[in-house]
Amino acid sequence: QLEYTPLDEIDRKIQRSVDYYHNRQRNLAQVRNPSKHDLQFRELQLKKLYYAVKDNEQEIVKALQADFHRSPLETIGLEYCKLVGDILNMLKGLKKWVKPEKVADNSPPFMFGKIVIEKASLGSVLVISPFNFPVMLGLTPVAGAIAGGNSVILKPSELTPCSARICEKIIREANLDENLVQIVQGAVPETTRLLECGKFSKIFYTGSPAVGSIVAEKAAKSLTPCVLELGGKSPVYITENFSNMKIETALKRIYFGKFGNAGQICVAPDYMLVHESKYEVVLQVAKKLLEEFWPGFNQNTDYTHMVNFKAYSNTVQKLKTTKGQVYTPNFAEPDEISLCIPPSVISNVDWADPLMMEENFGPVLPLIKYSNLDDALDNVIKYHDTPLVQYIFSDSKADIDHILTRVRSGDCLIGDTMMHVGINNAPFGGIGNSGYGSYGGVFSFKAFTHERIVFKQPFWMDFLLTMRYPPFTESKLKL
Ligand code: NAD
Repeated sequence: QLEYTPLDEIDRKIQRSVDYYHNRQRNLAQVRNPSKHDLQFRELQLKKLYYAVKDNEQEIVKALQADFHRSPLETIGLEYCKLVGDILNMLKGLKKWVKPEKVADNSPPFMFGKIVIEKASLGSVLVISPFNFPVMLGLTPVAGAIAGGNSVILKPSELTPCSARICEKIIREANLDENLVQIVQGAVPETTRLLECGKFSKIFYTGSPAVGSIVAEKAAKSLTPCVLELGGKSPVYITENFSNMKIETALKRIYFGKFGNAGQICVAPDYMLVHESKYEVVLQVAKKLLEEFWPGFNQNTDYTHMVNFKAYSNTVQKLKTTKGQVYTPNFAEPDEISLCIPPSVISNVDWADPLMMEENFGPVLPLIKYSNLDDALDNVIKYHDTPLVQYIFSDSKADIDHILTRVRSGDCLIGDTMMHVGINNAPFGGIGNSGYGSYGGVFSFKAFTHERIVFKQPFWMDFLLTMRYPPFTESKLKL
């Protein structure tokens, strides 16, 4: 059982976070070279965080195993390595990112002045994280907030209590500057308390679109800007001109994105749109790969389970009511006791199917047959516009361009799935229903700083600017 932070203690933590930020800025203002001092401080805190994460590698693996039977390999490959890589990348780039950028404007009012864009810290920021990659999606934004010079409160997901405790342990053991990073544990009442205080300078939320909208609404009351990293239905396309020779590799790549973490991944392929000329071969290879990847499927092996009964029954209900044909390795069935749902491919699905109503946050992959690409795209736009990502498998540049031109999405991959989340210094994020704002390396730094114009005007050239002063005479108008 996770111990939730009492509500009055949450108020005190918020105040401590805000006070910490202002006291630090006050102290910085008193040193001889504030920016150099500040850079060294941020780097030191990031290093401490980095080593605390490294020291807890096995604890993180165990926590995720306990929380939802996550396989150690998945935790190391998809969560742990990404987190330490992100912190290292920030340490590598920070010195360059914090430097004010010079701006050259050769028009008379500006040409003699000095213009820079300063990367100002924001203040105290709030990070709210989801359950599916609970350590990485909590601590990566925290690292971004530190890199940006802010104080931060992290609210991990209550659905993965062991991981939430590990986040707390890592922060404690990192021995960061006191009150730089604080943790609030809890569920809806605790998060609501945080959201309604109106004292944060930014809210970085990762989770479902429904809760994202609650977060944004509450933030709007105090004009607090948000980054919303949400989910949605990310489509896969296999178009008419895709070579049969590549279908097996394509499906392996699709399975990697779909069935990792038992489908509980925001960027998991949600459904497949397959051209009718490819449909039969895709289905045959899909069935074959189910058996090859999970021979004699056994829920006790390296396969992640659903996070809780609600998530389990939500997906099982869809499998029970779909009109499509469900295929699983070795005819495996969902198991209510262990909350395990075997990897499932569902053929003959249409747009009205229960599997096509909302995000499939589980190991289910519906296949929809299409005959005309434009009609298929009409339906993507009509039912599930602005997905977090779309995955195109096509050998036709015209088809790829057609999809990219018509369907807006957070990101897009051609010929693979999910790998884009690993790219350093690229802006990972959604659009429309899948959220707004982005992060990743320098984009995390940008998300947690404010670009401020600092313009210094000399006095000697005021004769060039006299036209802006009254009286506004005719002769000035002619200038
Ligand atoms: P969730 O929205 O249920 O919970 C996320 C966080 O919000 C948790 O910390 C939770 O305590 C808090 N929360 C829940 N209900 C709340 C409420 N009513 N008021 C205030 N706070 C509340 O999401 P989840 O189930 O943990 O995660 C799955 C979702 O997250 C999926 O939709 C997935 O696509 C999305 N996701 C997106 C990304 C991304 O980077 N875009 C990454 C991971 C997950």
